[in-house]
Amino acid sequence: MKISFYGACREVTGSCILVETGKTKFLVDCGLFQEKDSEFRNRVSFGFDPFDVDFVLLTHAHIDHCGRIPKLFKEGFMGEVYCSYPTVDLANQMLLDSAKVFAIRENGVPIYFPADVERAMTGFRPVPYGKEYSINSDIRIRLKDAGHILGSAIFEVWIKEDGVEKKLVFSGDLGNPPAPIVRDPDFIDGADFVFIESTYGNKVHMPREEGRKMLKERIVEAIDNNGVLIMPVFALERTQEMIMELKSIFEKGDIKSIPVLLDSPLASRVTNTYKKYESFFDEEARAIAKKKKDLFYFDNFKITKKKGDQNNFLRHRGAKIVMAGSGMCEGGRVLNYLKKYLPKKETQVLIVSFQAEESLGRKIMEGEKDLKIGDKKVRVRAKVSKIQAFSSHADGQKSINWLQKIKTPLPKKVFIIHGEEESASKIAERINQEMGIECIIPSYGGEYVL
Ligand SMILES: [Zn+2]
Repeated sequence: MKISFYGACREVTGSCILVETGKTKFLVDCGLFQEKDSEFRNRVSFGFDPFDVDFVLLTHAHIDHCGRIPKLFKEGFMGEVYCSYPTVDLANQMLLDSAKVFAIRENGVPIYFPADVERAMTGFRPVPYGKEYSINSDIRIRLKDAGHILGSAIFEVWIKEDGVEKKLVFSGDLGNPPAPIVRDPDFIDGADFVFIESTYGNKVHMPREEGRKMLKERIVEAIDNNGVLIMPVFALERTQEMIMELKSIFEKGDIKSIPVLLDSPLASRVTNTYKKYESFFDEEARAIAKKKKDLFYFDNFKITKKKGDQNNFLRHRGAKIVMAGSGMCEGGRVLNYLKKYLPKKETQVLIVSFQAEESLGRKIMEGEKDLKIGDKKVRVRAKVSKIQAFSSHADGQKSINWLQKIKTPLPKKVFIIHGEEESASKIAERINQEMGIECIIPSYGGEYVL
């Protein structure tokens, strides 16, 4: 069989792998490119004919994994998209939002329209976790929980060719346990070939407990300074996790309750979808839900529903917290808050998510003082901190731990994807040294025969 890489090669977005056997062609993910240098790829042809692709395996609903699926359908794909149950709903919301963003931001014709999303959604087929599912007489799949976001899946794929069966494992994005909503990532017992993400390379995340302590310190500082604490958040998973983290801090009752606003229509819709899938939560979150408590609510927490909600928040003179998208500050309502509050020294910006190279979020995180937000020049006087403990991606050690469980059989090769060049090389070096397995860091368009 032949494997070709059409995204997330030496970068973190645009996930797309083409697997070709003698009889079948399928994709693993078909995500949007979000890095500035590769965004143009969203507009050009795929590098393969979508008409020839029989099906797609979708690991999860983040837009860098599913964002080009409507384009795939638009350009001739007629097959099915296999994913978990929550991913169907979540991808629908993410893709509709993406179509809306294209209409606002893109010069010229948007890559796709809401009608294309609707068309694509008719091809989505949910598959339960843990059960083998035969796609055809030669290919079986099994979804395991990747613990990254709600509905995220690791795909085990068994492919029979000329009487020989090989097992491929696609990690998708691997979670960073223990997380407050999703379960810990499932382990896989064996594989012939593994495709693993490397977002954080060999870095080690701060333990979550320490992150919680830091979050509390930032809130206390906001209270002491009567300042605003701005948290740019991704709509999917990070928002819901941060709501739960804040809920847990404020409900302990040892610090003063202050207004917390979630100002993101998409995050608000996604949060409502989460409530539909409580059976997919981890034990702790299910226990709270069982007590009929709203997991995503606490006193003084508000989700904007009407314009008045923002105005009330802006008018409030004391300490306050706002969470808004986009997560990397590349658009969305967070920009309004950044423009208004970055020049004030009592403001804090708290980065709790991955920030891609050259994104506004990365510039803020790295301490740039003079920014341009839209047409406005903004001088940063705010205090900027980051907490990586809340990352939903495994760090180097957790990735290695996960990989080390894959023993029978031991992988012949590990393909390192979904990580910037340096991150991918560092984890590759470690896997090679510690496990003696050959690692490949593919480039865009790279082809390998397995
Ligand atoms: Zn992801």
